[in-house]
Amino acid sequence: MSVALWETVIGLEVHVQLKTQTKMFCRCAVDFGAPPNSLTCPVCLGLPGALPVPNARAVAAATRLGLALNCQIAERTVFARKNYFYQDLPKGYQISQYEAPLCADGSFLVPGEDHDLVVAIVRAHLEEDAAKTIHSGGETGRKVGADVSLVDFNRGGAPLVEVVTAPVIHSSRDAKRFLTLLRQTIIELDVSDAEMEKGTLRVDANVSVRPAGSTELRARWELKNVNSFNYVARGIDLAATEQIRRYQEGENVHQQTFDFEPSSGALTPHRDKEEADDYRYFPEPDLAPVEPDRAEVERLRAALPELPGARLTRLRTQLGFSRALVLVSGGLDQLYDATVAAGAEPHAAANVIANELVGAGVQPAQVPAGELARLVTARPRLPRPVFAAALAAADSAGFCADDYLAQAFTDADADLEAIVADVLAEHPEQVAAYRAGKEALAGFFVGAVLKKAAGAADPKTVSELVQRGLATQ
Ligand SMILES: [Zn+2]
Repeated sequence: MSVALWETVIGLEVHVQLKTQTKMFCRCAVDFGAPPNSLTCPVCLGLPGALPVPNARAVAAATRLGLALNCQIAERTVFARKNYFYQDLPKGYQISQYEAPLCADGSFLVPGEDHDLVVAIVRAHLEEDAAKTIHSGGETGRKVGADVSLVDFNRGGAPLVEVVTAPVIHSSRDAKRFLTLLRQTIIELDVSDAEMEKGTLRVDANVSVRPAGSTELRARWELKNVNSFNYVARGIDLAATEQIRRYQEGENVHQQTFDFEPSSGALTPHRDKEEADDYRYFPEPDLAPVEPDRAEVERLRAALPELPGARLTRLRTQLGFSRALVLVSGGLDQLYDATVAAGAEPHAAANVIANELVGAGVQPAQVPAGELARLVTARPRLPRPVFAAALAAADSAGFCADDYLAQAFTDADADLEAIVADVLAEHPEQVAAYRAGKEALAGFFVGAVLKKAAGAADPKTVSELVQRGLATQ
């Protein structure tokens, strides 16, 4: 059986640490980088008698993320205790949501070049983070082989949303596409920094394979603690390839948990609490159910901005997918929209913003769209260095297309005149032939000048300059 007869099945679990001032159930600050164990209190340390209180801002942030994922927002949501014993969990349980998550039954559209991806979202629930364990002295930085393990309780109790997809993704490439757009959506919603290096975005991937055409779900491997989207993709490919090999050789695949080791690029078995799968969930008796106010939910829904996926879909019809992706993923599409709204031709505006502006290292927020529209309209194909200089002038408050254009035209024409002179000097025989009456050679000179100007010149202007050069030289 060849690999082509197998289908990879991927479900993702994405942990998002919410950007709130305080933790999920206490008033301790959430501050990445504070001295270890300086941000704790009886509630997040689980001391006897301490009572948790839900953070309303965390509930609102999770609701906004759920709405962006097209989830249903529960009328009544219940916190539960997820019981397990581990050094990063002083209470002996984590407060999470089990049977009644805040957000459920969503879907997230990822527009693509050749196919759109619709990822079903099973749930997005609120929970508190565990403390951070730092393993020191081992070769891999993991628990196995470490000399000491240190615990920092600052992170314990920080608010998390766990987004769980259905197993509907079928390639590592699609998994990466989904994660990339989800991350941008989270960042634009301003609910989290979503930085994998800081641990504010963490991804676990569940991977299985099945014969193509089948709908069964076979035993899956869970890849944990993978700290970049590229590693997620590599881990998925490794897991799928190995599972296919085992099935083809008549072996069985058992449910198992792995870490992806960036140093070796291999999957290593994960030895941890996750092997015990019975968390004995029960409703948290110290917390009342949360019943989100319906008017507030609708207000949050109405206040959602146009999200990157929707903007990608809209711009794709105007500009094609790859240009739309450059604008949206680069945070350039607001300027594009404003420039087009100010009267610029869409393709010319997209071209200038995606190529010249980025090339010149100019921040889009510093460019006045109205002036840019006038510039693009007056002279869409300025020589690149001239355009870069113009856009750099956008850094100063005095940026104005009028002031700039006069100079730009002069500079551009001076540059072109120099190129025309060079071309004529390089081709004395053709110049002589032209002057002897072979006027069709004018096209040859124009072509040579355009080639030297790397296309950043107006053919009509070049033609005039060539005629003038030939007449006077
Ligand atoms: Zn606390």
